[in-house]
Amino acid sequence: MSGSILVVGGGFSGLTAAVEAAEMGYDVYIVEKESYMGGRVTQLNKYFPKLCPPTCGLEINYKRIKTSPKITFYNLAEVESVSGGPGDFNVQVKVNPRYTTPQCTNCAAGAEAVATEIPNDFNLGLNTRKPLYMSNMMAFPNQCVLDPSAVSSGDGQRIKDAMPAGHVDLDQTAESVSLNVGAIIMATGWSPYDATKMDNLCFGKYDNIVTNMMVERMASPSGPTEGKIVRPSDKEEPKAVGFVQCAGSRDENHLKYCSYICCMATLKQACYLREQSEDVDIYIFYIDIRSPGLKYEKFYSKVKEDKKVHFIKGKVAEVKEGSSPGSVVLVAEDTIGGGKVEQEVDLAVLATGMQPTGATTQIPGIEYNSDGFVVPKDGIIPCGCAKRPIDVVSSAQSATAAALKAVQTLVRRAG
Ligand code: SF4
Repeated sequence: MSGSILVVGGGFSGLTAAVEAAEMGYDVYIVEKESYMGGRVTQLNKYFPKLCPPTCGLEINYKRIKTSPKITFYNLAEVESVSGGPGDFNVQVKVNPRYTTPQCTNCAAGAEAVATEIPNDFNLGLNTRKPLYMSNMMAFPNQCVLDPSAVSSGDGQRIKDAMPAGHVDLDQTAESVSLNVGAIIMATGWSPYDATKMDNLCFGKYDNIVTNMMVERMASPSGPTEGKIVRPSDKEEPKAVGFVQCAGSRDENHLKYCSYICCMATLKQACYLREQSEDVDIYIFYIDIRSPGLKYEKFYSKVKEDKKVHFIKGKVAEVKEGSSPGSVVLVAEDTIGGGKVEQEVDLAVLATGMQPTGATTQIPGIEYNSDGFVVPKDGIIPCGCAKRPIDVVSSAQSATAAALKAVQTLVRRAG
């Protein structure tokens, strides 16, 4: 019987679960697919309930992980298979190479050594990055990464030569790690739903249609526009912004469920825009505004008081080109006012929904439902958005509960 716990995913819920279990005295492994910890929260400008930046909350968890002798973590790592049962799971993990060593924390010289630019996935493709990069300002672990594409081209050698000796290691290869654990916490998180799947919303067809996560990156001081929300086409501040709620969610053809977070994300982003400009008009097209709980309801009421924020109860059915350069027109049926609304805006924001990682990537030995959420089993405990759409604070609560359930599994089996 194994007395240790595996946490799959190093986002907010995974980190919380790992720290809680370790602080109860159990050995914990974290397997995270990205080169950094923190998951989606690291990409946000601010998050509820206090609207603080991601550093608040994440940094304390990073510190607890760094100082805990009970936690072992792997980045750039994937769980390949799970077998066995509660108290005795065998897990195969593949750890991909980073091609750098822990001394590599400042990639400036390597960045200058090559002209190659790669779309920056951390910034949702809003800018580019060099092959040797630090994913984000608060990256944990604080170690650069060399893009695998550079290893097979001449770029890798040029970057290695430009960096201090021992910082870049082109000979690293993938490693296999076998773990024996008593319980598995699945904290595999979510991705924004692919906006290109909704033909009628024209994402990718017109430049000035973005997603809510792209707005988060623009609004972030460390983001591609250094905190300014602008139109991608001309980098100008928009004077009229339209939000399209339920973009892909609550739709039998896409995500059947409500994604829980996107109404509050829009209300928050309306505040970002109003702080940026006194003149901007905001049009929110919605089916229902979902603001669960007293705090969120109060926030919604406050936004409603702003005369420059206009709520239109109607689902956007069509997006077309506007009359002024770069603008688009959102078309919907106004179910309260009646009639068809055609609103021209400088920038349209799709409030895209939350799709669990299990919808696109599944681990053999783990059970998923038809939407891709993890199905709990004895010894396999989902939490956060691997379980259902949920906000950050509820993720942390569900992670604490998952840690307790994992410990109960171990105690039961040991007894
Ligand atoms: Fe639609 Fe709001 Fe639910 Fe998101 S949270 S799916 S925008 S109702």
